[in-house]
Amino acid sequence: MKRRILIAILGLAVLSQIPFAYRRYRLRQLRNTIQQLAAQRIPPAPENEYVDYKGVIHVHSLLGGHSTGTFAELIAAAKANQLDFVIMTEHPQAEFDTSAMTLNGTHAGILFINGNEVATAGGDRLLLIPGTSNAAAINIQSTQQIVEQQKLNGGLALAAYPSESESWKSSAVDGVEVYNLFTNTRQIRPVIMFFDGLWSYRSYADLMFANFFQRPDENLRLWDEANVTSKRKLIAIAGNDAHSNVGLSLNDSSGKQLIGVKLDPYERSFRTVRTHVLIKKGNGLTRESLLEALSQGHCYISFDLFAEGSGFNLSARNSDAIMGDEIAVTNSELIVRVPLAARIVMIRNGSLVEQRQGTTAEFSATDPGVYRVEVYLDNLPAPALGKPWIVSNPIYLR
Ligand SMILES: [Zn+2]
Repeated sequence: MKRRILIAILGLAVLSQIPFAYRRYRLRQLRNTIQQLAAQRIPPAPENEYVDYKGVIHVHSLLGGHSTGTFAELIAAAKANQLDFVIMTEHPQAEFDTSAMTLNGTHAGILFINGNEVATAGGDRLLLIPGTSNAAAINIQSTQQIVEQQKLNGGLALAAYPSESESWKSSAVDGVEVYNLFTNTRQIRPVIMFFDGLWSYRSYADLMFANFFQRPDENLRLWDEANVTSKRKLIAIAGNDAHSNVGLSLNDSSGKQLIGVKLDPYERSFRTVRTHVLIKKGNGLTRESLLEALSQGHCYISFDLFAEGSGFNLSARNSDAIMGDEIAVTNSELIVRVPLAARIVMIRNGSLVEQRQGTTAEFSATDPGVYRVEVYLDNLPAPALGKPWIVSNPIYLR
């Protein structure tokens, strides 16, 4: 009898692992496809007037309290990812100015900008780029007051976690963090991550994220809606919200780690999703040119884990407008370029208008509206199948 029970328990234990073994198999297929795609990239068009700089926005270090990441780890991770820029957004501390103390300027050839993440009296969270010496005392001010002050200082204020508090909508924020990697990874159930970790971490640690990746439907809806109703530009960016602290570990009594699964060490976070910024050729990448291009919305979000987005552009024919710009309705031919054959989806005022397959696509836009693009790599297998690769900023036809 005892033996039968034991066999039954063993049988169940084995059965319970089948889904995780299958998830590991899927990640292998995904890795193979990603490698094939990398070989199919087409070079950017020579007439392109812009240079694509890739970087990450919304990064914390140990200065702000929630993270244990050091500057050395951050710089090494940015270097390993060949990033061009990193925008730090430190939590404030009462006794010292975290924006003054965080990474700033050029380190190992990477441009750092010293921002803050602050809470407002209205319950919003703002990313201030650059940060302010006043950050620790700012939470008694309204979102609008902080945004106005930031504009006076020539900086940007972006609404982070836009679905958690929506009073930013009635303020003059410059933009919205439509995707947050930390929020996405926090939705993972620990038991699932544990068994995925056992099966997949050793071989496919980077790709494990794909198991949990979700299109940020609600944030995109809020952003689309605000773009239409506010009648002004709202820049979209992705927040890595990198803390290097999401994961599981099993330690023995001496503290020695037996199993460790960390989903967001900086290096992995910086590889997963990036904000790419387009800067006119000849201007180079400087603090000023980066802030200027971001404020214009000359940027897009790319889940570079699947394929690097560099080479993507949304522009208008017979005009020098690109994503982020406003044009008259008469300039109504929109052109999309992607570095890999993909499904290009044109979205107007939040609704799908048309989709095309290829490395370039032209869309005639005859009505005023907010036109943006999402790009999908349909040959990526599950679990990445059907998830977006690129989310662009809009061209505004007024
Ligand atoms: Zn944060």
